[in-house]
Amino acid sequence: MDIDAATREQLQNWEKELNAQYQRICEHELSLDITRGKPSADQLHLSDGLDGILNGEYRAADGTDTRNYGGLEGLMCARELGADILQVPVEEVIAGGNSSLTLMYCAVLTGYLFGYAGNKPWKELEAPKFLCPVPGYDRHFAICEQLGIGMVNVPMTDSGPDMDAVEALIEKDRDIIGIWCVPKFSNPTGVTYSAETVERLAQLGRIANPGFRIFWDNAYAIHDLDNQVNLANIRTATVENDTADSVIQFASTSKVTHAGAGLAFVSASSDNLASLKKQMQAMTIGPDKINQLRHARFFAEFTLLKEHMHKHAQILKPKFQCVLSHLEKAFKDSDLGEWENPLGGYFVSFNTRPGCAAAVVELAAQAGVKLTPAGATFPYGVDPEDRNIRIAPSFPPLDELDTAMSVFVLCVKLASVRKQLE
Ligand code: PLP
Repeated sequence: MDIDAATREQLQNWEKELNAQYQRICEHELSLDITRGKPSADQLHLSDGLDGILNGEYRAADGTDTRNYGGLEGLMCARELGADILQVPVEEVIAGGNSSLTLMYCAVLTGYLFGYAGNKPWKELEAPKFLCPVPGYDRHFAICEQLGIGMVNVPMTDSGPDMDAVEALIEKDRDIIGIWCVPKFSNPTGVTYSAETVERLAQLGRIANPGFRIFWDNAYAIHDLDNQVNLANIRTATVENDTADSVIQFASTSKVTHAGAGLAFVSASSDNLASLKKQMQAMTIGPDKINQLRHARFFAEFTLLKEHMHKHAQILKPKFQCVLSHLEKAFKDSDLGEWENPLGGYFVSFNTRPGCAAAVVELAAQAGVKLTPAGATFPYGVDPEDRNIRIAPSFPPLDELDTAMSVFVLCVKLASVRKQLE
């Protein structure tokens, strides 16, 4: 049905029909959850071989006794793993603890309190702010919000952030000191930045405040579902543009091995790393090198890591197909929703008609299906058009996901018709 062309009577009949279906579903008292992008138990099993892999051999190849204190930068073999994932020189990598988000927090704090590479601390600016491509990752926004760093929305396109808007904002405002980027299989839109976008980002260091940094969170660098999707190398681009200090990169094995028990990496120019290390030194004597050695042994060669990621993809693919086929079937010939077909990562981003997302989330919750709160993908939790909903298909078993998606599409239809009737 074409919702815009429908008469009021047609809409009322449709609402009645959909509501009857919805009430029947509510009677089932479902309890399903498609909120956070967590790996499923099947995915976690792929890495169970980490347990016991050291078998009493705690020394790394360079002789380091991993049981003891020390080594702020992490074990060389772990740094090599990070260098392979991010495609950067190993000297520019620190292998940290279990969370890249912690490293990001630390990196933002370094800029805020002390400044990078001799530049003024951001806290001394009148109104320091980050550009936030939206929809984006809520935990990035939470870091800025907690530190009182302002956030400016920039629309995401199918080739990355709207670069005309980014450049115009940076030229106008010297207090813009950062931008959040998830450059491959972006959270939540699944978009991979085009080569042109990467090049234009690499040039920002020429026009921005010298303290400006791109926070390049490459969380899904190796999380391709099918064929490998190529992301242009930001380090190479910044070196060529003489802006190498303008980018700080992050990655982790959270969605490679055991989430919450993996390794995290940060990579940057030597000047940036020096600023970062100065702060880290006061925070820790060093990371968990035993876990680093476990990972380095588990992925003794990069090809093993690739094979491992292929196994993840085999588990994830049917789940993405399930979500996408529900959306196709329900909305292919309508304008009740828009979405991208991601080639990797962890999410499907769905846009309702304006003003419907919060109602969809509420209806789904009442029917026993938990969705990420509407607005979560925007700074301060405010989606100005109330449209975006992030679907995370990885965690539930396929049959539960299938049921959850049936409920989801029904809630979208019901909320859209009700909105039209207002
Ligand atoms: N960055 C992005 C874009 C994510 O989607 C996630 C997890 O969902 C993280 C970072 C968290 O990473 P970590 O577990 O390494 O802290």
